[in-house]
Amino acid sequence: MSDFAQTVKQQADIVKVIESYIRLRKAGAQNYSGLCPFHKEKSPSFSVHAVRQFYHCFGCGVSGDVFSFVGKIENVGFPEAVRIVAQKCGIPLPKREFSSPEEAAGARQRAKLLELHETATAWFEEKLRGPEGAVAREYLAGRGLTPEGIKAFRIGYAPDSFNALRDRLSGMADQETLRASGLFSSKEQGDGSQGPLYDRFRKRVMFPIANESGRVIAFTARTLETGDKAGPKYVNSPETPLYSKGQVLFNLDKARTAIRQVEFALLVEGQMDCISVFLRGIQNVIATSGTAFTEQQVALLRRHTSQVVVNFDPDAAGSNAAEKSIALLTEEGFTIKIVTLDDGLDPDRYIRERGVEAYTAALRGARRQSDYLIERARQMFPGQSSEQKVKAMNYLLPHIRRMPQKLSRDQFAADAAQKLGIDSAVLREELHQAALKRRDHVEVRASALTEVERVLLRALAITDTDFEPSRHAAAQAIGQQPAWFEHLGAFAAMQALAGRQANDPMSVIEDEAQRALLAETLLAEVKPPEENEVLSAIQEIQERSIEIRQRALRAQIGEAERRADFAELALLTQQKLDLDRALRQLHQTRDRV
Ligand SMILES: [Zn+2]
Repeated sequence: MSDFAQTVKQQADIVKVIESYIRLRKAGAQNYSGLCPFHKEKSPSFSVHAVRQFYHCFGCGVSGDVFSFVGKIENVGFPEAVRIVAQKCGIPLPKREFSSPEEAAGARQRAKLLELHETATAWFEEKLRGPEGAVAREYLAGRGLTPEGIKAFRIGYAPDSFNALRDRLSGMADQETLRASGLFSSKEQGDGSQGPLYDRFRKRVMFPIANESGRVIAFTARTLETGDKAGPKYVNSPETPLYSKGQVLFNLDKARTAIRQVEFALLVEGQMDCISVFLRGIQNVIATSGTAFTEQQVALLRRHTSQVVVNFDPDAAGSNAAEKSIALLTEEGFTIKIVTLDDGLDPDRYIRERGVEAYTAALRGARRQSDYLIERARQMFPGQSSEQKVKAMNYLLPHIRRMPQKLSRDQFAADAAQKLGIDSAVLREELHQAALKRRDHVEVRASALTEVERVLLRALAITDTDFEPSRHAAAQAIGQQPAWFEHLGAFAAMQALAGRQANDPMSVIEDEAQRALLAETLLAEVKPPEENEVLSAIQEIQERSIEIRQRALRAQIGEAERRADFAELALLTQQKLDLDRALRQLHQTRDRV
């Protein structure tokens, strides 16, 4: 590890860094726990050790230090992880080092694209304030947006020009980078090459899309034209090295603190709905931007909450997107409630026309997902005929099967049978089977370690000089008599620890499974073991290893007898007598203690 990485690691607090991604709760004197961001789970098995500065998941077995966490969650390599942690902790960066020229070029390009987006955002904001922005300002005022709201979301205006933005940005980057930004379009030429760049967004209101850190990475642009030449109502940035539509949740950067505080996220469809609701004080609101949820978006959200209130548009398209999103969230174990607003209003109009109190009341009246779906089934297939009931049930069954918990499936099936008035035994059995269909999985694995192994691992991981004799005793025994310890599951970890020079025990174990054994041991630790505890653990392990060799010898002796190999037999018998004596002596020392 470089000196710089070492400095960052010493100054960074792993609890704070991890808390910037997921919710943690204090779980003990030295540790915190939360839902693991690396595997699906409903009860927390992810732990962070505040003193030893590492994390470990008892569910999926991942463990490591602050850099490994950031590397995994941001999906970046070690140098990039060091840089991100340094930035989070306000530590100035040295000149950057990259592992490959491609990585360096990629990072340079992303930095440049962020800069272009920042400049474009400021420029669009300026154009909105200027004389060209009059119509856009009027439109925004009509949608109930105040100047403060416009400023908070950095809403801007792209003037009616093919080259105004291009002229503004062309001095900042080469053509290739400008093309990669997605801010420009070009036409394919006769020879198949791309023609000159021109502004993609023209005469449109510009809504910036930010990443989780609040940096602008893309735009949604709404037209101000009406009639034939208006084009599509909304135009979005294309996929770029900065932006992938399915991986961003609109407003998560502003909403995440509130989401953790109130412990649920309010999910709306449109960016305008989201802005409108947020500016009226309901700050835990995010938007999917009119499409169904993706798995990456679910993973993003899971870091902050597992409860969602969904308030999508009541029109048909809205309901389909809503259903897809609800299906995915259900599969991922989220608790979901659904709001339907009176008179088919969308959140933006509802909150503007009826006020924030009425909207808050509507949110409180959100229905459980199962109630919502049963109601929808009844509307889609009304009537009491058994044909309609079968259709309603066929609509509900996949939703029931999708729920990860059996208890919820049972409840859902029972509710559906009752509310749809299903009295047929066959249909009831069908519902019952759907509820049985999935098995709840057990998430916490039992430890593979014995008590004496834990004592040794704890001794070897000692960093407190008061307990140095304990560490020394363990390290010496493993260094001098490795054969005694070979049969232990954590042998590789013990050897690495016994030979360690660095101060951080977690960092010397390279094998992930071995490191996990140490992590789970240390998370359960109250204080380091005393020397006599370590010595008796070593003795017990020595006895165990002798017993293992005795068993092996007995098998070999039996084999030699069958072959009538008396020379071999004499040798083996002598070895066994030696072992028996050694074991007796060990027992005697223990009895004396
Ligand atoms: Zn996990």
